[in-house]
Amino acid sequence: MLQKSYHTKTTDAISEFIQTTAEHSFTAAELSDFLKNSGLDVNKTTIYRNLDKLTENGTLIKHKSQTSDGFIYQKASADGTCHEHIHFQCTKCGSVVHLSDEKTTDYLKSISETLGLEIDTSASTLNGLCPKCRN
Ligand SMILES: [Zn+2]
Ligand SMILES: [Zn+2]
Repeated sequence: MLQKSYHTKTTDAISEFIQTTAEHSFTAAELSDFLKNSGLDVNKTTIYRNLDKLTENGTLIKHKSQTSDGFIYQKASADGTCHEHIHFQCTKCGSVVHLSDEKTTDYLKSISETLGLEIDTSASTLNGLCPKCRN
């Protein structure tokens, strides 16, 4: 059997990490720690390059973090509609909720038409506390 290349190992480890975080957002630093714990010494540039690639191909969604400097990432919804709806981000724990329900979508469509707006959904987040952090 062929030895897996270093590059493949890194990519595999990153996909594994994303699976474990499915419903929760993460930062580049958290991914970096995970790779370090997996015995992979990956530099920051490579990590950001991988995250950018995964964001571009729709695997991840990326938002400006409300809890720290920089960005948070989260696995995009499986149906690939993350660019069509807005998201809610918890300012305490950073978890992201997909606001993909029909009512919200219809509302955004309606105000876009009424007010003549073009809403950049990927740059739009509502902020506040998630149910877990409210208690
Ligand atoms: Zn989404
Ligand atoms: Zn929260």
